[in-house]
Amino acid sequence: MKIDLAGKIALVTGGSRGIGRACSILLARAGAAVLVNYNRSREKAEEVMNEIRELGGEAEIFKADVSVPEEVEELFEFLKKRFGTLDILVNNAGIIRDNLLLTMKISDWDRVHDVDLKGAFLTSKSAAEMMLPRRSGKIINVSSVAAVAGGRGQTNYASAKGGLASFTRACAVELGAKGIQVNAVLPGMISTDMSSRTVRRAGELILKRIPFERFGDPMEVASLVLFLASDLSGYITGQTIAVDGGLSIS
Ligand code: NAP
Repeated sequence: MKIDLAGKIALVTGGSRGIGRACSILLARAGAAVLVNYNRSREKAEEVMNEIRELGGEAEIFKADVSVPEEVEELFEFLKKRFGTLDILVNNAGIIRDNLLLTMKISDWDRVHDVDLKGAFLTSKSAAEMMLPRRSGKIINVSSVAAVAGGRGQTNYASAKGGLASFTRACAVELGAKGIQVNAVLPGMISTDMSSRTVRRAGELILKRIPFERFGDPMEVASLVLFLASDLSGYITGQTIAVDGGLSIS
């Protein structure tokens, strides 16, 4: 069975690098037209767009900080003008600002919540508005195993990602009768820019806790996102699914 997203429109926030990049490319490979959102990495976003176009797919890029309401508005105005509608939203944009509770700066607490949680609220609100008239749509939130397992130095990140998991369930309840599915993926340690410092600092220790004894690849997260974006996930909503080589159950 082949996943076919031809004719579908997808928006991937933070699609310029890492997991978002993998999601953009995999959704496009399945036939979806993809709007790749980025904030700082314009060149990287252009590379993703060009890679998709070289594969024969359709892609555009748009700069917006997902934590800023006006920029999210502009993002959705562009989406409406260019593509007319939205079928799949992947709330992937995220940052870390790790520090121990006692030395955590209030600005780092706020920034992580603004991007990782409020960003998903802003985009989901606009996406749901576009999806409601057609009574169909898929919203996929990229949370983290930090939502279910405490991590030292991550009170800000764990609470934002835990909030995102709860947000997923509450949205799924509200939007289920309208034909909109809302699910979350919980990546473990995936090899990207975000995890590189942690891997350098504590990689060996973390590896010992992962039953698969290796870090994940962004494409392995994107595969789950692709499944959730497809008709194969037709009766699934409000779920948080780990893709972590067993880290969260070890
Ligand atoms: P990454 O390599 O650092 O990439 C982060 C992406 O988010 C970039 O494309 C970045 O875009 C975008 N972004 C950051 N702030 C943004 C903002 N304010 N507005 C719009 N886009 C913004 O990180 P990653 O590892 O791929 O992480 C992707 C998601 O997976 C995040 O939500 C992260 O929390 C989650 N996750 C990752 C891991 C892991 O081990 N890597 C584990 C669990 C969960 P620009 O560069 O263009 O600014």
